[in-house]
Amino acid sequence: MEQNRAVMVRIGELWLKSEPVKKQFMLALTRNIKAALETQNIEYSIEEYRGRILIFGDPEKIAPIISRIFGIVDVSICETTTNLPEDMAKTALKFAEKKLKPGMRFAVRARRQHISGYTSQELARMIADKIWKEIPDFVVDLDNPEYEIFVEAREYGGIVYDERIPGQGGLPLGTAGRAVALLSAGIDSPVAAWLMMRRGVVMAGVFADGGKWAGPATRELAMDNARILSTWCPGRGFPLWIANIEPFFDAMTHSCDRHYTCLYCKRFMIRVADGIAAKNRMEAIVTGENLGQVASQTLQNMGVITSSVKTTILRPLLTYDKEETIIIARRIGTYHESPGDTGCLAVPQKPATRSSPDLISSEESKISMDELVNAAVESAEFWIAKDGEIFQKIITPDSP
Ligand code: ATP
Ligand code: MG
Repeated sequence: MEQNRAVMVRIGELWLKSEPVKKQFMLALTRNIKAALETQNIEYSIEEYRGRILIFGDPEKIAPIISRIFGIVDVSICETTTNLPEDMAKTALKFAEKKLKPGMRFAVRARRQHISGYTSQELARMIADKIWKEIPDFVVDLDNPEYEIFVEAREYGGIVYDERIPGQGGLPLGTAGRAVALLSAGIDSPVAAWLMMRRGVVMAGVFADGGKWAGPATRELAMDNARILSTWCPGRGFPLWIANIEPFFDAMTHSCDRHYTCLYCKRFMIRVADGIAAKNRMEAIVTGENLGQVASQTLQNMGVITSSVKTTILRPLLTYDKEETIIIARRIGTYHESPGDTGCLAVPQKPATRSSPDLISSEESKISMDELVNAAVESAEFWIAKDGEIFQKIITPDSP
């Protein structure tokens, strides 16, 4: 293991928190970092000082893994030194020798904490002078540099680096409760689930399988979405319930006013997710709904969908443009280039853009809603996606 090269982790938003909360967040973050590295069998050791985390090991392998962990603003591959300016300057020069060319616009960014004897500006100057002796003719440009070297002098030593690899931001997974996403074969819902995970919420998914009513590609795609989401919570697993809602479709298309099909369907899926959430201590239901995207996503109809359960329904993509969602989907890996047939055969020619809870309840009373919901919840298949693989778990009466 390399002794003086490390990955430095920078953490966001924690300064907003009180000391006990900060502590709990740091604990969750280090737990997640360890899980991610252990899942990939990476050798490492980890040190934590005052809001900075240093991970020793093979930094080229460690940095890309760590940059996917929620709650991290950015990571840098750094070299540790003593906090003597001479030592830091020597290390800075090593970095500069690889990348600084004569004529380049260059800046040294120096910081110091609990160190006396020189100011940050003096430190930056000492380092720039040292580099100038070996690689002269750079242009100091603090506003718009082409190349930067960062130096941090702290009581426990010095840190030098010249690159910041952007992280995901957000909060450490596991610090913001548990929720279930209605996870479809589409583009929106996996992004919605990911955005919740990024904000620290431990997520699971419920996919409603329409059977003969749904395009043949939907089930595989929804499972693949769960599989990909699991790569964002290494070592933890992403549970997926697959509920059979074909009997509901059969009953509803036979008995109810077809104009409102998409509303009954969304309300039914929400109820199924609610039943599963209640059994698994999950506090909210997340959907990929998006204002004005389709007829069932007018403000009015979303109100009717919301009124189907008491549990909080969260819609992280409410105000996103499709293009914005697609950019995230591509980046997180859930965008499928050629998804295949995911159409729904039950969608009416002219889905209603307006409705009312009373009207929809009265239509729904023509079928045995509660029994259909219960049956879908009780018979749901239980799958676990973990570290990019997915497998079914058979639940027996004795399993925990
Ligand atoms: P997505 O919105 O995920 O791209 P979609 O466009 O096919 O999928 P919509 O008709 O926009 O689906 O449905 C709105 C939301 O309802 C979805 O974002 C998802 O949360 C949920 N949803 C739709 N179909 C299903 C399904 N078969 N199983 C589980 N949830 C679903
Ligand atoms: Mg959608």
